[in-house]
Amino acid sequence: MFNAFPRGSRLPDPAWNMRHRLILLFAVISSVLVALFSLFQQEPLRMALVQGAAPAAVALLAWKAPLSRRFSASLSSASLMLVAAMVVNISGTIEAHFLFFILVPVVALYEDWAPLATASILVLGHHSIMGVALPTVVYNHDAAHDDPLTWSLIHSALFLAMCATSIVHWTIHERARRDGSMLLAQLASQALHDPLTGLANRTLLNDRLSQALIMSQRTGTPVMVLTVDIDGFKPVNDSYGHAAGDTLLIELARRLESCIRAGDTAARHGGDEFTLLLPGTPPEEAPAMAERVMAAVSSPVFLLGVEMQMSVSIGIALSSPGLSSELLLQEADQAMYAAKHNGRGGYMVFDKTLAAGTLGTLAVHPDHARAWAAYTHDLRSEIASAKELGLIPEQSRGPETVRRTLESVVAAIEQLPEGQQPAGLALPERNALEEFVFHHDLVQHWADTLRLDSIIEVQRSPEADEFWRSLHQTVIKDANDLVDDDGDAVHADSSPS
Ligand code: GH3
Ligand code: MG
Repeated sequence: MFNAFPRGSRLPDPAWNMRHRLILLFAVISSVLVALFSLFQQEPLRMALVQGAAPAAVALLAWKAPLSRRFSASLSSASLMLVAAMVVNISGTIEAHFLFFILVPVVALYEDWAPLATASILVLGHHSIMGVALPTVVYNHDAAHDDPLTWSLIHSALFLAMCATSIVHWTIHERARRDGSMLLAQLASQALHDPLTGLANRTLLNDRLSQALIMSQRTGTPVMVLTVDIDGFKPVNDSYGHAAGDTLLIELARRLESCIRAGDTAARHGGDEFTLLLPGTPPEEAPAMAERVMAAVSSPVFLLGVEMQMSVSIGIALSSPGLSSELLLQEADQAMYAAKHNGRGGYMVFDKTLAAGTLGTLAVHPDHARAWAAYTHDLRSEIASAKELGLIPEQSRGPETVRRTLESVVAAIEQLPEGQQPAGLALPERNALEEFVFHHDLVQHWADTLRLDSIIEVQRSPEADEFWRSLHQTVIKDANDLVDDDGDAVHADSSPS
């Protein structure tokens, strides 16, 4: 039901101050006009000064005295009603009563009951006391002179009706303001949250993480970050449909939220990857936290009536003085990839040996590397076209981690200098590269069969082959070195053959 009464929500300070100043300026100018009008009506100078000074003095008090907002507004309202009453008394005309009707909406601009009540009390008082005791001062027609009580009541009723319409306006303004601020809050929330799960998005996560790192510098307690990625999520999408996949993501979000305390943040920044930000959490709590998350995730989920069990791989990283938020997130990501590499369904805490797990640089012929990057690009676009034509099933798509590694290798190739001279290609993290090479070999075999079936045409050139062979050998050599060297940092600076 439409509610005609405002809730009386507080007008924001800047708006109130602006309105108050303008209303008081209006009251002071009106007071000067009252004095001039009085003189114009042949009143003695002293009387004119008193009639102008009375509302002006009240207005000045409302302006300068250190009073509450409500009290100042009531004085300002009193000043305006005095202006109207003076004009009625000086002119003795009925038309002067219109001034009350003009001034009520002005008083209603305060959007406060107190100034409106002050105006009503003054006007009703003026009409009932002056109007009855001295009807010739207030009214200029015989009917009112003969029956001042009835005419006081009529005027009072009209004045109250005017107040009522002003209250309706106030209600509408208040509602529009409330709707506006709700819309703003909604937009701000949408800009900072993942629409599917309602968790924080990357923007909010980055902001909270930066704040947490600043606090951590002050308090000396570290910030813990967990990267959580669902194992084998793509097959769920492929078998049960995207909507079922969404349900699983929402369920995981709820479960992750149940694992964290107030003040912690759970975020989703795309795909099936989530981040937990736990400020003030000491390193020794990492295993317990990971176990808690894995336990929460592992209870059965019912999807389209089928019971299934989720598992996640977790990477944990802890802040240290001077470590940027980007690096901390990267470390948690690296630890998560390592957990995936370890067989999934487990967790890994980042340490320096993982950081040393980048394979350094590989000396390559830039032209060979670019030939391979161009071949990979063509292969991906031919496969995408074949999918569009329905020649290959849509769901056949590699894991996200592999796609990201491919992108980082291609980006590193783009950085290589032009020319024939061998150059150092920056390699990604060891586990990610190993998974990528393994997966890319599978894709290569698949591409060979697609070519035999004439679904695609693109061929790997001998130069691209050369590049791939040296990358492949680097990974295999690294795996062997790892067994030999018991996990020492490995750098592959092999020359291209
Ligand atoms: P891994 O164990 O290596 O993590 O394998 P995975 O199958 O989980 O592969 P990956 O993490 O790379 O898969 C992420 C998939 O998430 C790819 C994409 O199809 C799917 N995905 C991304 N965003 C959404 C989404 O909003 N809803 C649904 N249902 N699926 C999404
Ligand atoms: Mg996954």
